[in-house]
Amino acid sequence: MNETKTALVTGANKGIGFAIAQGLGAIGFTVVVGARDDARREKAVASLKEAGVDAFGVALDVTSDESVSAAAATIERTVGRLDVLVNNAGISGRIDGGVQDPTTLDLDVVRTVLETNVFGVVRVTNAMLPLLRRAESPRIVNMSSNMGSLTLRTGPIMAAYAPSKSMLNSVTAQYARRFEDTNVIVNAACPGYVATDFTGFNAPRTPEQGAAIAIRLATLPDDGPRGGFFDDAGVVPW
Ligand code: NDP
Repeated sequence: MNETKTALVTGANKGIGFAIAQGLGAIGFTVVVGARDDARREKAVASLKEAGVDAFGVALDVTSDESVSAAAATIERTVGRLDVLVNNAGISGRIDGGVQDPTTLDLDVVRTVLETNVFGVVRVTNAMLPLLRRAESPRIVNMSSNMGSLTLRTGPIMAAYAPSKSMLNSVTAQYARRFEDTNVIVNAACPGYVATDFTGFNAPRTPEQGAAIAIRLATLPDDGPRGGFFDDAGVVPW
């Protein structure tokens, strides 16, 4: 298959998602910018094009069945195939005094975080799967966090966000088992601590540095690892 490969990146209008889109575009992918806000999406597409990336936008709210189905239909109509899906969109949920204290947690915060960080990934993955199955070497990357690790104890107490990423790692492993005898490779990535809106731009790594592991996992060879959780340094214990 010599045609240009196409990658959908969710939450690609800013932060790490934008850097992933830029990085994949720089190595020749056509990039589909999945973003829920029209103005932010079009601004990102314009910046990518300005940087020489072949990009277009699709309206995509990962929490909405209708939005996700419509996005899949648009990609079906325009490209007819997806080589890469990066499930990057994510939220922390409300943080009070620097933490999400499990003893006082508002369950609606947990629901909202799971709806985006976990159910959103399943919703988007399953909607895009028919398009991914048409690719020669489909790759799915789920943007997780080492805060989801049950062994590392990184970061503050985040009783909604951290378990959402633990669950995402577990969901990733389940997909990998399901895809065992297929050419679909799925892994989870940890970008490190990155200066974006998410961290109030108060973190040591650049979005480009955070994007690197996702780009690596999106371009794995056919004998690459499956169902793992990786950062720049290798396997992350979770
Ligand atoms: P940002 O807050 O900068 O970007 C998050 C992106 O997700 C935005 O484009 C946002 O869109 C989008 N998004 C949120 N909810 C939805 C939704 N319902 N539908 C579609 N898009 C949505 O965060 P980062 O770039 O820092 O984070 C990207 C990913 O990396 C997240 O999954 C995060 O958990 C993970 N991560 C980040 C770390 C860091 O240090 N920054 C560390 C570890 C993991 P909008 O602009 O419309 O809000």
